[in-house]
Amino acid sequence: MIKYNRILNKLFVDTFRPRICRRLASSSSRPQLKSGPDLQHFLATSQTNSILDPFVVTRNLPIPYINENDLNGNGAKVFIRTYGCQMNVNDTQITSTVLKNSGYELVDDINDAEIVFLMTCAIRENAETKVWNKLKELSLLKINGKIKQIGLLGCIAERLKTEILVKHQLIDIIAGPDSYRDLPKLLAINRMTGQNAVNVLLSFDETYSDIMPTISKSSVTAFVSIMRGCDNMCSYCIVPFTRGRERSRAIESIVNEVKQLSNSGVKEVTLLGQNVNSYRDLSHESNNTSISLVPGFKTVYKPRLRGFTFDILLDEVAKVDPNMRIRFTSPHPKDFADEVLHVIRKHNNICNCIHLPVQSGSNQVLARMRRGYTREAYLALVDRIRQLIPDCALSSDFICGFCGETDDDHKLTVDIMQKVRYMSAFTFAYSMRQRTHAFHKLSDDVSSDVKIQRVNQISQLYRDIALEINKSFIGKQQLILIENVSKKSDNYLYGRNEANLKVIVPKVVIPVVDQNQSSLKLIEAGDYVRVDIQDCTAITLMAKPICHQKLSHLP
Ligand code: SAM
Ligand code: SF4
Repeated sequence: MIKYNRILNKLFVDTFRPRICRRLASSSSRPQLKSGPDLQHFLATSQTNSILDPFVVTRNLPIPYINENDLNGNGAKVFIRTYGCQMNVNDTQITSTVLKNSGYELVDDINDAEIVFLMTCAIRENAETKVWNKLKELSLLKINGKIKQIGLLGCIAERLKTEILVKHQLIDIIAGPDSYRDLPKLLAINRMTGQNAVNVLLSFDETYSDIMPTISKSSVTAFVSIMRGCDNMCSYCIVPFTRGRERSRAIESIVNEVKQLSNSGVKEVTLLGQNVNSYRDLSHESNNTSISLVPGFKTVYKPRLRGFTFDILLDEVAKVDPNMRIRFTSPHPKDFADEVLHVIRKHNNICNCIHLPVQSGSNQVLARMRRGYTREAYLALVDRIRQLIPDCALSSDFICGFCGETDDDHKLTVDIMQKVRYMSAFTFAYSMRQRTHAFHKLSDDVSSDVKIQRVNQISQLYRDIALEINKSFIGKQQLILIENVSKKSDNYLYGRNEANLKVIVPKVVIPVVDQNQSSLKLIEAGDYVRVDIQDCTAITLMAKPICHQKLSHLP
């Protein structure tokens, strides 16, 4: 790992240091260092580690001029704005814990903050554009003196590293997805020296296992990160470059976190990972020699044979609390071996709801995407899922307009959507990302107009199908978990069914179904409620509540 870090750091230092030094030297807006360490000091520090750079602070290295007191935020107020996926939401929660443990106070309103972090996403260009626009706003607040420090966290931080310092000289701190523990140190260095503080090292082992994410006290749902990184190298995707190699948390640490969440009243956990079902806890020697790959699917990496796999983890997590719902995202279809499907079927509290990103229905496009499967193998997996879990809701991701995608390829994508009939779908126009295989070897030759046209067509089709499916629920009963008050009216609450669809119900008093007693209770967040579906749109159901019912009392 040290060797890996050294290579990364050397690349970083050799490529960017001269440019940044020149730019920063000429920056008049940057606070000038009056006393304390200078460049020589940093270089002297690097005697212990020849890779240390003035703009890079390597994790776990003591910095001689920083003591415990300097790491303390002394109540400084921090606001974190999160962009992107659930993984980023969870990273924000982890970062919040790190900062709170160091004496910082997290605030919900940016106007109350003196330090602002942006938790960023680099997966598509438009995700990045949003961050750049926000940075322009923040820069003004900094010039006006309202904000003292600005930091960029997450995937863009990893992707653009020093370019950011050159382009946005008002950014003070840059921390990649594996460096959040270092934030108190980075904040202190910047505060004390006026220098930019950067740590974008990717790690082979960072999982933040021992950090309990900060969630709101009233939260009914929570994320639990179980693995990080991705080894798949789909040709369009930047994730393996920004998030690094796959690594999984030890099973006990995950189960303990789920127990704590259950004890604190959380009623639903979503296990998270870039490839959540590739989970493999290698901290245990196990006799598990199966490859656990779906027939017809292949990987670009050598099959792993050791360790505890996702089915084992899922089984353990489901046993923690039979009244706690379990979901997981984002999975890869290749890892839905029968073992996983059997565990989902076995436990009432694991939602019968599987995200099965297909990306395209054309074999030619799938091959260029390096997805490791054909449409036939994918459709066979859909059949297998429906055979073992008949009422399972399926959702998917689609990329329209990938390199070389023809009208016929697109028709095959339309066709696969019609065949599978997903309950929900995320549709994206292909966005070329630097460093990926497609960037180097393929041509982004589908015009943006055609990409948008295809995305619109697929999205409309998904909504039409979803509406048909939802209509078929009218008059049927479902169990929903109430999450909160409806945004439109305090007299209504919203919850979610197993398929993760929003269900709106009036806030009323209903019977409690319990073998030992009969009583009445007002519906509130955290309740499981049996409802009668009465109306729907493509994305929401409207229902009449019937009674409170425990998840564990389901037949
Ligand atoms: N690991 C999951 C899988 O492989 O199925 C998906 C996780 S990925 C972070 C989320 C989704 O972003 C992908 O399924 C894909 O549809 C979309 N995506 C990734 N790279 C993209 C790109 N360059 N352009 C457009 N969409 C992209
Ligand atoms: Fe990206 Fe998912 Fe492919 Fe990994 S498996 S490279 S996260 S699309």
